[in-house]
Amino acid sequence: MKSGSPLLHMLPALVMAAAVLTACNRVDRSDYTAEGVSKLLATYRFETVRDVKYNLAFKIDEGKYTPVEGTAVLEFILGAGREPLVIDFKVPEDHLRTITVNGRNAEAVFTNGHIIIDRGLLSRRYNRVEIGFHAGDLSLNRNDEYLYSLFVPDRASTAFPCFDQPDIKGRFTLSLDIPGEYRAMSNNPIVSSDTVDGRVTLRFSETKPISTYLFAFAAGKFELVEKEIEGVRMEMLHRETRPGYVENNSDEIFRLHFSALKWLEEYTQIPYPFDKFGFVLLPPFQYNGMEHPGSIFYRASSLMLEASPTLNEQLSRASLIAHETSHIWFGDLVTMKWFDDVWLKEVFAGYMSDKIAGPDFPDINHDLRFLLSRYPAAYEVDRTRGTNPVIQQLDNMKDAGSLYGGIIYNKAPIVMRQLEQLAGEEDLKKGLQVYLKEYSWGNARWDDLVTILEETSRKPLEEWSRMWVREAGMPVITPVITEGDGYRISFREDDPFGTLRHWPQTLRTMVITGSDTVIADLEPAERDSYITTAERPLCIIPDISGRAYGTFLFDSLTAKHLTVHLPDIKDPLLKGILWINMYENLVNGVILPSDFHATASRDLQVISDLQLRNYLSGRFSSAWWNWLSAEERAARAVETEAMLRGRMESAESPAEKRSWFGTLRSMTVTPSGLDYLASLWKSGELPGWEPRSSVIPGGTLPGRTLNKGKIQGVALPGEHQPGPVRLSEDELCTLALTLALKGHPDATSIIAGQRKRISGKERLKRFDFVTPAVSPDVTVRDTFFESLRDPANREREPWVLEALGYLHHPSVADRSEKYILPSLEMLEEIKSTGDIFFPGGWISTTLAGHHSPEARATVEKFLDDHPDYPADLKLKILQAADHLFRK
Ligand SMILES: [Zn+2]
Repeated sequence: MKSGSPLLHMLPALVMAAAVLTACNRVDRSDYTAEGVSKLLATYRFETVRDVKYNLAFKIDEGKYTPVEGTAVLEFILGAGREPLVIDFKVPEDHLRTITVNGRNAEAVFTNGHIIIDRGLLSRRYNRVEIGFHAGDLSLNRNDEYLYSLFVPDRASTAFPCFDQPDIKGRFTLSLDIPGEYRAMSNNPIVSSDTVDGRVTLRFSETKPISTYLFAFAAGKFELVEKEIEGVRMEMLHRETRPGYVENNSDEIFRLHFSALKWLEEYTQIPYPFDKFGFVLLPPFQYNGMEHPGSIFYRASSLMLEASPTLNEQLSRASLIAHETSHIWFGDLVTMKWFDDVWLKEVFAGYMSDKIAGPDFPDINHDLRFLLSRYPAAYEVDRTRGTNPVIQQLDNMKDAGSLYGGIIYNKAPIVMRQLEQLAGEEDLKKGLQVYLKEYSWGNARWDDLVTILEETSRKPLEEWSRMWVREAGMPVITPVITEGDGYRISFREDDPFGTLRHWPQTLRTMVITGSDTVIADLEPAERDSYITTAERPLCIIPDISGRAYGTFLFDSLTAKHLTVHLPDIKDPLLKGILWINMYENLVNGVILPSDFHATASRDLQVISDLQLRNYLSGRFSSAWWNWLSAEERAARAVETEAMLRGRMESAESPAEKRSWFGTLRSMTVTPSGLDYLASLWKSGELPGWEPRSSVIPGGTLPGRTLNKGKIQGVALPGEHQPGPVRLSEDELCTLALTLALKGHPDATSIIAGQRKRISGKERLKRFDFVTPAVSPDVTVRDTFFESLRDPANREREPWVLEALGYLHHPSVADRSEKYILPSLEMLEEIKSTGDIFFPGGWISTTLAGHHSPEARATVEKFLDDHPDYPADLKLKILQAADHLFRK
């Protein structure tokens, strides 16, 4: 094997295939073998490589550091073309051991994470390349007792040689040589298992054609649970050791998967297309879930719920399972051609999961749920200078991770609902069936779908698609009141980016006057679209449908009216819309933080809808820490804590009690309040609750939304029994850490006591990892921060983010300001070593708690000093720093 020589020396002829070079574009040919997978390389390979099969074998030992050795046999048909063959393998050069091409030992060049094979060694038709290698660990998530692969979006090639782009699908045959006490799961069923000398060799059957990012395996000390429901066999691997959790949760986990599968088969009219169905629950996992066909991976805590889970937790679990299962069709069976369309699979998974999980929760207001789960998170990004369109430009797969974020996950579903409205629900369904059928086992683009939908719905969609899918940002919409013969109310639309863009949408506007309420459909920025009233409007609600999207700023009378009267409004959806608008008005300086706090405090006490209360509690707490000054907090602390404590003590169900407790824990600042929290920590439980006389056995209170109906399936022991509510281990850990963060005098003994209480090994490791971040000792905190420079100490990303949340908590922001600059400086490296959400999580968790002019100056200077900073990361910084730029 030859190595290292720059590409220019070995390419036989730098003439790119005509197929790739369209006449007018001059392409920089060094892109072809540049680091990552450039669009140029991907396009060329797609046209010249097909019918790919991977035969992979890995030898895995216990422990984190023993090398994983592997062999890969790549078989494929090669079409006409002049360029050498490029196989992706992003590892240090010494990882490559042997290579034979069509049976002959080969000379290959290894450069920029690619193995480059001379055209002369390859046949025009069938080829077989056999590679012996030492697998890279980056995406194998090694742990002492297990490992799991996570290859999305372009990381399969960090573990084994492959064509790492979504539109070259391959059939994978896997064999794993593992310690005898290990179990394993992959996309396909195990077809043979041979035990020799305490080791097992498992062979899995060949997969259907799948993209490299969907190939997966997990191996280690796992427990296996199998279940069959109405002929559907499912398997689950887990490492849960806490007593009761598997028993309490597994039936519901299987049931939710089964019902999602059945629903999707019906909706798509395509039977489950892969060879088996299973899932792996991993203790720490980078995402909530990842949709590998036949072997979905989940973060264990997202499925294994605590006893008496809140309604939110149950909903989230059902939605998550429906989301990942939907991907089997939307993403796995039909895959985006290039990762710039990754939003497409996400939006359909989200859209389907809303439809699937809905019927299981008949008492839930689903419009409200959609509103609360999507709009705030979409606005969080879309209001910033760092926002991006739904479809983003992607020139190289190595940057694909940066595409994920609030816009794809939250704005895209909102856009999708617009599409449903435009095309009609039935025509959309028909269009999707055509799309799935036409592109099964292959790849498609957004535009392919738009073409199909224009046909099935007979509606023009192009202009709508351009503004809502291809443009970044959202309109700022302000009422215009003209006084003349009565009052005329219309809306002005501004483009925050200063251009003259117009987003087509209709608002259902409500205008309240002293004696009248008028509702009408208005188009912002349309001259003849207005409402007239005889009296001066007291309150203008721009949209009451919950479908309009943008920054809706209040006029001063409306702001005043709502701060007084919002708690009187009964309709939960309208209240949700208004609270989301209130928050945007707070962010934009229209509503004062003190008014926001006072109104939210009153409203929290009268809201009965749990979803809405949970949302408002979150905003109540974030306004407390991020918008009120320390003096304003101090002035309101006694009253606020008393209110929250009173509500918690009188709450009527454990779930509600927990939810109040969470808010109280987050907001408490007074010494006596902290003492009270310390007493809860000590007892390990929340004060008991008494059932009301009107309680119906089974846990429903008249006029309230509690667990009932099918959710009853997960009612856990203790859920409906009166008596004290035990705090879970996670809650106790968070409570102990919070007490330490806020400087409770007994913090040291509380932390030590909590360590002793923790039963699980993983939990204890996590607790020990996070604890230095709350230390009162500056040396301990500095040492902890410095330790994060080593990528090995950042491997457990959720742990790192939890610790950063404490380190940069607003209550201690002044002492952590010094970490901002080094954190910015580390961001590029974090992108190269971390998973896709980590750079965004890293920088937003770092900046969220800071509000000082110095923090702002640090960020601005950093951006000024790095004019050539990678665009995707710059956007992440601008998103995370938005609140600083508004002060
Ligand atoms: Zn997804």
